Amino acid sequence: MENLEQIKNFIETVLDKPTFDKWIVPLSFLAVANKIILAGSTDSKKLSWIKQNLLDKINSLTKKEFGLSLKLISLNEEEDDFSLSSPAVELTGKARSFKETNLQKKYTFDSFVQLDQNRMACSFAHSVAEFPAKSYNPLYIYSDVGLGKTHLMVAIGNRILENNKNFNVRYLTTNDLMKEYVEYTRQNKVSEFTKKYTSVDILLVDDIQYITRWGGTREQFYYIFNKLIQLEKQIVICSDKHPDNIPDLEHRIKSRFEWGGLVDIHHYDLEGRIAILKTKIEERKELFKNDFVIPEDVIFFLASSISDNIRKLEGALNRLIGVANLKFSDTRKSPITLAFVKEALKPFISLRKKPATVKGIQEFVAQKFNIKVNDLISKSNKKDIAYPRQIAMFVCKKLTKIPLYEIGDKFGGKHHSTVLHSIKKIEKRMEANYEFDKEINDLIEFFKT
Ligand code: ADP
Ligand code: MG
Repeated sequence: MENLEQIKNFIETVLDKPTFDKWIVPLSFLAVANKIILAGSTDSKKLSWIKQNLLDKINSLTKKEFGLSLKLISLNEEEDDFSLSSPAVELTGKARSFKETNLQKKYTFDSFVQLDQNRMACSFAHSVAEFPAKSYNPLYIYSDVGLGKTHLMVAIGNRILENNKNFNVRYLTTNDLMKEYVEYTRQNKVSEFTKKYTSVDILLVDDIQYITRWGGTREQFYYIFNKLIQLEKQIVICSDKHPDNIPDLEHRIKSRFEWGGLVDIHHYDLEGRIAILKTKIEERKELFKNDFVIPEDVIFFLASSISDNIRKLEGALNRLIGVANLKFSDTRKSPITLAFVKEALKPFISLRKKPATVKGIQEFVAQKFNIKVNDLISKSNKKDIAYPRQIAMFVCKKLTKIPLYEIGDKFGGKHHSTVLHSIKKIEKRMEANYEFDKEINDLIEFFKT
């Protein structure tokens, strides 16, 4: 991926110097993600001039050169009601009675692993954290469960508090908010409820999809929502659904959600899950002051067995560490082996009940040999690709009932005789070389429960 400096340099070469100096130099280049270059300025007049006169031209060129287009956002800070000395903040100081911030400290930007699947969401989140109510308001993050929405949302809150100690940052789930509202109503104190929530600086509302459960009560949320936007207070919302897929959501609110910043997090691929898992292992080593060793094949096993949800993956890791601590007095001396992991996690999760698939085998072999799955299905016959490919084909033959011609198909359309040749080669080598035989059998063992 191109870096921002490179992109800026490129734009310099395609514009004349005075135009570049006047309009592009003052822009802050913020991020590159999902085919978009994000740049901003505090000067909205300049921004609209660029949009009208330059943007199309720049975009057609950056698209051609990098496949990226430029998106401009306002970082308007004219009114400094976010600086510590301003009256707006003093007012907030008074409302501090309810500022027992309930943000989980561990959910920070530092502990969040940035990957292609969440890069856009991260970039929006950073932008909101640095410029609350000035970049995307509301920010709406959606994804399937366990992919880091809450983590990212709380990270925004933590960063804002780091930057503005007196801010009233409130995190809560939609259900909590609605329950609280019902309680206030019961005590005839609706106006207090409204006052409480319209006096926050930052409102983080999780799991908004449940709003539809709350029938009439949700009017209150709409009211608070509109009021906060009007007052230029930042709102961040998380959901497991795109606003269009939340039934009965008031149309005005829906378009308001879409009008701010709408980003999703995609499912992580195997490589991503491994990266996250490694981070979580390091965190736990520090937390438990324990130097346990979790070998690479165990990490791979966990990340490939639990693919849909990071929360589950973390749960498995916690259980593993727990069981290891109980079993071994010194986890450093007794490494956590694959056999141990399978045993420890058996009651917890159904690991690899499904039969091994060609794709799963390809991913595993690719990872083991440090190449890409795409290499395995490529035409390349370089030794460091052809050799793992032969192994992968052999394992496919051993573990699946798929006929040779179909295995060939799944390796980028190789002829079945090529597959057969590969299998024979591996068999011969296994016979001749005990070490190699063991290596391949371990590999096969990996897929057996
Ligand atoms: P969601 O709100 O989308 O259901 P969470 O934010 O609760 O998901 O995430 C579930 C767990 O996975 C959390 O412990 C979180 O720290 C972790 N997690 C998810 N994505 C990442 C990531 N990219 N980097 C680090 N941890 C992550
Ligand atoms: Mg969540």
